[in-house]
Amino acid sequence: VKQKLIRKVFRGVAILFVAVLLGSGPAACQTNRTTGAQQFNMISMDQEIQMGREADREISESMGIYPDEKLQKYVSEIGLSIAAKSEWPELPWSFKVIDDATVNAFALPGGFIYVTRGILAHFNSEAQLAGVLGHEIGHVTARHSSVRMSKAQITQLGVGLAMVLEPRLQSIAPLAGAGMQIMFLSFSREDERDADKLGVRYMAEMGYNPETLIAVMETLGRVSEAGGEERLPQWLASHPNPENRQENIRGHIKDLGKHDFRHNDDPNEFLDKVDNIVYGGDPREGFTRDGVFYHPKLKFSVKVPTGWTVINRKQAVIAVGPKRDASVQLTMSGEKSIEAASRKLFGSEEVQGSGTTKTRINDLAAGIGPFKVKTEQGPLDGTVAFIDYDGHIYQLMGYSASGNWAQYRETVNDSLRSFNRLTDPKYLDMKPMRIDLATAKGEATLQDFYNEYYKGVNAAVSIDEIALLNQLEPKSPISAGTKIKMVKAP
Ligand SMILES: [Zn+2]
Repeated sequence: VKQKLIRKVFRGVAILFVAVLLGSGPAACQTNRTTGAQQFNMISMDQEIQMGREADREISESMGIYPDEKLQKYVSEIGLSIAAKSEWPELPWSFKVIDDATVNAFALPGGFIYVTRGILAHFNSEAQLAGVLGHEIGHVTARHSSVRMSKAQITQLGVGLAMVLEPRLQSIAPLAGAGMQIMFLSFSREDERDADKLGVRYMAEMGYNPETLIAVMETLGRVSEAGGEERLPQWLASHPNPENRQENIRGHIKDLGKHDFRHNDDPNEFLDKVDNIVYGGDPREGFTRDGVFYHPKLKFSVKVPTGWTVINRKQAVIAVGPKRDASVQLTMSGEKSIEAASRKLFGSEEVQGSGTTKTRINDLAAGIGPFKVKTEQGPLDGTVAFIDYDGHIYQLMGYSASGNWAQYRETVNDSLRSFNRLTDPKYLDMKPMRIDLATAKGEATLQDFYNEYYKGVNAAVSIDEIALLNQLEPKSPISAGTKIKMVKAP
């Protein structure tokens, strides 16, 4: 059940990494099977697989797998066929489409690879998908993650949450698991060059024309320029600066020599695969409007303090204060009763407090109480509320550094006590936008086509966004019969 929120709140950050680094690894200097280079690597491939498995579970739970079996199977088949021809065919390769609007693709050590539905919407052919998968496979086979970890760049791993929370608050944040950390591990420029080179090689071996990878780079560059928070191209955060990359790719292609690119991509075949996929944020999974966070699927609403930012994940919803020094987080406790949830929280070593007091929050049975947590960076103060709703115990925790708590307590408690059932059909029935494949009837420019498509209705997205999705410009000529990805409002 993809909706299932997970229960672990107190989770050691990167325990696995520390264990691996302190443990007896294999001889540190190894010859890389894929690149032939001598590498300082204290992590064995078996350990990489173990790390990848653990992180894969976290990422799948936190970000959610896009619920479209046919699309999953399609992406998986292409990925597996490329991986089978790589230097590491024996890895437990897996390829998943993540239910996320951002334009992103990433790889975990051991062969766990993800593309978002957001990036799929931006591809125009199977070769483009194969190119990105090949690049990510390259990161795995060249073992970039483990080399990076072995160089003790563990400090970099904090990037994910460090961007949004001050360090001492991170210690009890629910997204601090090792998996989310690896996801934000960024590669060096050399790593990217290696991965591009391997991607080109893998594409050519499969008969895809690697030139298409250049179009992908262009599109990703354009997405990044277009910006917008919802579509923040995380791909670029973990894949540094593509400057000169297109040129380098051309060089790699030249080095390949003559090749027979037998995959003569019919773009329409690929476009049919992404027709009707969800586009942009999916309101059914939660959205914020006028200072309230609504979750239509779980049927609850909760007030967001004014000026706070909401991070919505499947396993947790976190609101962060403007100064990043206070947070309210909502998770499922996983316990069967308020008493059990409270006992569990206050029974843990780090947490001090005398438990929760019985109360009602908007007519729901609840327990609420103050707590303190000692962290390495100093003490935290907060309020926790457990709410019994719809067969689940919701855990809402608001906290800040003890020194700041007086100024946040009221705001936080107000938010905790605003938790309520959501019954308004206006919110319960919200639906997402979807990609809609439309066929041009005559000669026109993309702009003409756009005007015609949205004639008499509010355009769901701008012409620039449609141009970006189709790797075209507004003034690009469209011939009759061409299929164009449009975006349909619900
Ligand atoms: Zn990369």
